[in-house]
Amino acid sequence: EECLIRVRNLYTYFYTEEGVVKAVDGVSFNIGYKETLGLVGETGCGKSVTALSLVRLVRDPGKIKSGLIQFEGKKILELTENEMRDIRGDDITMIFQDPLNSLNPVFTVGKQISEAILLHQKQKLKESRAIYKEGQDSFKEQIKILKEEMKLKKKKGLEENHKDRKKLRILRKKIKKKNIKDIALDLSADILKKVGIADSREITKRYPHELSGGMRQRVMIAMGLSCHPKLLIADEPTTALDVTIQAQILRLMKKLKDEFSTSILMITHDLGVISEICEKVAVMYSGRIVEYGPVRKIFENPKHPYTNGLISAIPSSKNLDKDLTTIRGMVPNLIYPPDGCRFHPRCDHRMECCDKVIPKLLFSEEDHFVSCHLFDPEYQNSPKYEWSEN
Ligand code: SF4
Ligand code: MG
Repeated sequence: EECLIRVRNLYTYFYTEEGVVKAVDGVSFNIGYKETLGLVGETGCGKSVTALSLVRLVRDPGKIKSGLIQFEGKKILELTENEMRDIRGDDITMIFQDPLNSLNPVFTVGKQISEAILLHQKQKLKESRAIYKEGQDSFKEQIKILKEEMKLKKKKGLEENHKDRKKLRILRKKIKKKNIKDIALDLSADILKKVGIADSREITKRYPHELSGGMRQRVMIAMGLSCHPKLLIADEPTTALDVTIQAQILRLMKKLKDEFSTSILMITHDLGVISEICEKVAVMYSGRIVEYGPVRKIFENPKHPYTNGLISAIPSSKNLDKDLTTIRGMVPNLIYPPDGCRFHPRCDHRMECCDKVIPKLLFSEEDHFVSCHLFDPEYQNSPKYEWSEN
């Protein structure tokens, strides 16, 4: 099957003084062309580290221990740092929760977007320049014709027409030379318009701190898309925004995804975001994927007890009057994660095998996978664990 990125058995560990943090512990998934995959889970489950691993931006003391990351057939873990840099600029871009951290405070928005365009959009610049030159040639032609007309009128002894003079002035202004930087700046304004910024010219002159949170996130998206990436990784892009702006940004991303044919990896702790924008979802728990499949299937028929808990914790018209279900217990420590199924200390369905055997990621039906002994014929009849009240 054709897919843009293929991740297999990815392990990313952090070697700290306290011990080895197993942040990503055997993760596998695919992202298809034009597909949006949601990676969902609680804070600290390894979502962001998974994303950073894909572009090899895991910081010390973190290391990708092993695994396969294949991007359009290229093995990411075998590329040189230079090749990787090209991929990060041209093919894969990231946007984060807080754009203030990723935008440079000392440059205007226009400058930052046009730098990205100058670096990664050589072809596009060439084309725009050609179009611009064509325009200039046509203006030059118009000037020539107008001048001749004016000369002719003069010859006939007609009075000089101030309308003609004005037209000439405007045309002359239009053929003003533009260098490549000016053209890149034009393109920046265009792309800001695409992300719904109406007065985009004005915004190119602003500094990041002069913009609202929602506006900054739009700028980040514009910057992310300015190089037409094949994959956009968005790490909690709407978490810091209020609900209305959040909805706007999600709508925008959905629209742009179609327009730019970009695949998206959407990282979030919010299943609401997933249902808005994703086709597929991978539910992550304690460094592993516990359920994976089409969003619709998983929302309608969640299989893993953890996914079940997450879904029943979403406020909806059905459970508005009830207390929302919360999953007992805490997110496990990733230095000493629980044995067997990592969810066992919190699971209502726990069986006796659950703290001993690591569940496999099982094919449940077609494209829906789950990692839980309840669905493994081998363990289905394992005795149920008796929770004691204390
Ligand atoms: Fe619960 Fe066992 Fe399934 Fe883990 S493997 S989710 S503990 S039933
Ligand atoms: Mg995170």
